[in-house]
Amino acid sequence: MIQIASPILPPATLGMLGGGQLGRFFVLAAHEMGYQVWVLDPDPASPAGKAADRHLCVAYDDQAALDEIASQCAAVTTEFENVPAATLKYLARSVPVRPNADAVAICQNRVAEKTFLRDNGIPHAAFASIERLEDLRTVEAALFPGILKVARFGYDGKGQARVANREEAMAAFQAFNNEACVLEQMLKLDYEVSVVLARDEHGACKCFPVAENQHARGILDISVAPARASVCQRDSAQEIAERLAEKLGYIGTLGVEFFVSRGELYVNEMAPRPHNSGHYTVDACVTSQYEQQVRALCGLPLGDARAHSAAVMVNLLGDAWFDEAGNCREPDWARLFAVPGLKLHLYGKHEARPGRKMGHYTVIDADPQKAFDAAMAVRAALGIKDE
Ligand code: ATP
Ligand code: MG
Repeated sequence: MIQIASPILPPATLGMLGGGQLGRFFVLAAHEMGYQVWVLDPDPASPAGKAADRHLCVAYDDQAALDEIASQCAAVTTEFENVPAATLKYLARSVPVRPNADAVAICQNRVAEKTFLRDNGIPHAAFASIERLEDLRTVEAALFPGILKVARFGYDGKGQARVANREEAMAAFQAFNNEACVLEQMLKLDYEVSVVLARDEHGACKCFPVAENQHARGILDISVAPARASVCQRDSAQEIAERLAEKLGYIGTLGVEFFVSRGELYVNEMAPRPHNSGHYTVDACVTSQYEQQVRALCGLPLGDARAHSAAVMVNLLGDAWFDEAGNCREPDWARLFAVPGLKLHLYGKHEARPGRKMGHYTVIDADPQKAFDAAMAVRAALGIKDE
């Protein structure tokens, strides 16, 4: 692995694999700090690509583009866990790549991820790895009711099926084209929390305040920070997340999702990149999760991760662009700009589609309840319905 002899300083060029909104926020943070950024993403309308100094609009395994990145970028990171591990490994032969390909590969595959949790004594929901239909005939009955999840490329609840029994699980497995899956026991959730942290090359870790997350139709809807969990639960969530980062030899920003069930914490999954539930750090923390990603990538000391305000983040899905009659129109932005503590972030995606993450807003306030009430009032005014 290539080591960084001294910190990478502006105006160096950084490489970003993946061009979604997480990459776009990285580009914005890096630009403010004086760096240049090249983004590799095959989508010509990539939100990060539009903000970048250069958008390499090619496939993730395009040899010529990778060689150019390796020769022109001082370090490379990712915002998208499905970048092929082979691409990260190839680049790592000639340029520092953070996080490392092995850590990303574990987070890319639910079988590898759950096995990693089990092997490292990290609490998680009971699961079985399902490689073929026959495996479902012999899995423990205790895993039902459960959730069958495809091992690769699932996100926002896609590639998941809730299954009450073996027969339903077998039907779902076939509907997923017999792809490798994990079958996870369904937990009764008290609520869900997440920890976003940054870890530097010396192993120093800084956790952002724990966020509490509400999902709607399998997609993150609202994050509240600080989480309304007990202080003791928040401390142990951070401690578990730090332990995971250390075991992964992780350098960069890492998101860890947890279930809280009957008062106990269980790791759900890890994201080898900034996390949607950490968007609030942009507006409410001394350093954002994206600035931390730049800092860790460049070998700079991590910034102060404290929050200066309580925050409530609401995701804006494409659904909010459609009126009751199903016609597409812009939401009432003036209503949002009328709230002094509200920060609106739109990702520059041209086409609104139901379920597509188009933007988010964060309301900050010294008083968590006031932030929550203001965020919910705007959410209702935009016509975003509770499940
Ligand atoms: P995202 O991209 O939003 O993180 P994902 O597709 O990676 O979603 P998961 O995080 O595995 O999917 O699951 C999405 C949501 O489904 C969870 O946040 C939780 O609300 C619910 N869920 C998943 N697994 C379980 C479980 N074992 N028990 C109870 N609820 C679950
Ligand atoms: Mg998830």
